[in-house]
Amino acid sequence: MARVFNFSPGPSVLPESVLKKAASEMLDYQGSGQSVMEMSHRSKVYDGIIQGCESLLREVMGIPSNYKVLFLQGGASSQFAMVPLNLMTGSGKADYAVTGQFANKAYQEASRYGQVKVVASSKDKQFSYIPKLDPAQFTPDADYFHICMNNTIYGTFYHNLPDTGKVPLVADVSSCILSQPIDVSRFGLLYAGAQKNMGPAGLTVVIVREDLIGHAMESTPTMFNYKTHADNNSMYNTPPTYGIYICKLVLEWIRDEIGGLANMQARNEKKAKILYDFLDQSGLFQGTAAKEDRSIMNVPFVTGSQEMDQKFIAAAQAAGFVNLKGHRSVGGMRASIYNAMPVEGVEKLVEMMAKFEKENV
Ligand SMILES: *Cc1c(COP(=O)(O)O)cnc(C)c1O
Repeated sequence: MARVFNFSPGPSVLPESVLKKAASEMLDYQGSGQSVMEMSHRSKVYDGIIQGCESLLREVMGIPSNYKVLFLQGGASSQFAMVPLNLMTGSGKADYAVTGQFANKAYQEASRYGQVKVVASSKDKQFSYIPKLDPAQFTPDADYFHICMNNTIYGTFYHNLPDTGKVPLVADVSSCILSQPIDVSRFGLLYAGAQKNMGPAGLTVVIVREDLIGHAMESTPTMFNYKTHADNNSMYNTPPTYGIYICKLVLEWIRDEIGGLANMQARNEKKAKILYDFLDQSGLFQGTAAKEDRSIMNVPFVTGSQEMDQKFIAAAQAAGFVNLKGHRSVGGMRASIYNAMPVEGVEKLVEMMAKFEKENV
């Protein structure tokens, strides 16, 4: 069996030990005689899986007890609507920082439900940086302030969180959740599609402060109301059962094999440094994100020539480094080096890039 080095932005690489464990339990989950996919979500055996997943997530992320963890579907994109439907019901106002395509989609969706202000944008330079935020621009009575913490397409990350005072900070953390420790108490709400760092596509995780639940707009669909899911422990309807099971295995891997989020961060920083150090000295490849805002999860880079970019992507693919093509909106290359990408994968990629450079300049 030959596994490739998979730099996909999502769905993305999973830890090999997780895949092996899932394979070994595929036909008979712990003596139940069933696959996790086949069992009732209301069975005692499944209850152990979903509760285990939630308590592991609370332990690994240090989620305070006044926050609910919700296991939903619909992707991060559904949260673009759920957040305003549930939270924009005080003053009916919200602030958004537009740092990329997903942040912009979130802003546009929220605009359908209330008075939404763009307090900062980095559109002027292709979203290649995190704009400085001026608190004088913030709406003092906003119901929340929304950021996209890691901009998957552009490879930028908020190394410093905005100080929004009493206004709850809401963050899309789809592509950085579990990559490093995060102080959950600084946020009103966090949401993430699971398919980058948590498990397979189909599961969306929401972490929300309890006092923000229960104020949804009257017209909010039942399934889009956080209260529905909070009151029913994510069991109002059938949750994405298999995705939650894989997420639990991923959390066990982080806790037991990696040793927690501080170690995860050290490993991720080591990987990112190998790649950025190479890019910074290369005569062929250049990183496109502002240095001070660089992400340790997504690393976009270019050669400056579309033809050379294509030649590189093809050569990489042939050598077993797949999904390095940049987002269709920006072109170039992007190496997504999520938690499950081994250090060896980045070392080998850089070796391959150096060899390509020698042969092509
Ligand atoms: C992938 C991604 C999304 C979209 O997630 P879906 O689950 O496909 O809706 C949104 N925001 C960020 C930051 C992402 O990386």
